[in-house]
Amino acid sequence: MNQPHCRSLEDLREACRQCRACGLAATRQNVVFGEGNSRAQIFLLGEAPGAQEDESGRPFVGRAGETLNRLLWQAGLERSDLFITGSIKCRPPRNRNPHRAEIAACRPLLNQQLDLIRPRIIVCLGLVAAQNLLGPGVRMGDIRGQWFEYRGCRVYPTYHPAAVLRHTVSAELLVEDFRALKKALSSAG
Ligand code: SF4
Repeated sequence: MNQPHCRSLEDLREACRQCRACGLAATRQNVVFGEGNSRAQIFLLGEAPGAQEDESGRPFVGRAGETLNRLLWQAGLERSDLFITGSIKCRPPRNRNPHRAEIAACRPLLNQQLDLIRPRIIVCLGLVAAQNLLGPGVRMGDIRGQWFEYRGCRVYPTYHPAAVLRHTVSAELLVEDFRALKKALSSAG
């Protein structure tokens, strides 16, 4: 898919709604465009819509979303101040991991979202998002909590909130990472 040239987020939302650039268009109920502050300084990038997201058309509304909201709040961040979306906008069947070709097909839409919102920080929530922006060879254990760059934005990878639900990562670790974002924004002025 070529990069769309939408002049507003609303135009881009409509382009996403019409998108059939990969096979997931055939099985989705809704395109999950993303939501939040159109001038957000922090852009949260997740993986892919799950069943509840596909049904509602909203990102991070399931249990992982509730966990995310709580951890953001504990770190002193308001979800409504941020923009949040996924690496792909349509649900993979049976919640399988997105294929690399699907992520590549959806990347022009993501790039256009970034160009319109122009956040200062992109937070990659989980390995799928991190590999999307930083390359397929990265490992979360090596990159978590470090700073990278993508399309002129600072990139900060951390774990997906679902890892807290699975007890593979502590809630404190994610809260600590979210606090680091606040600090980075305030120290940059
Ligand atoms: S996942 Fe992305 S590229 Fe594929 S159909 Fe949905 S919006 Fe288009």
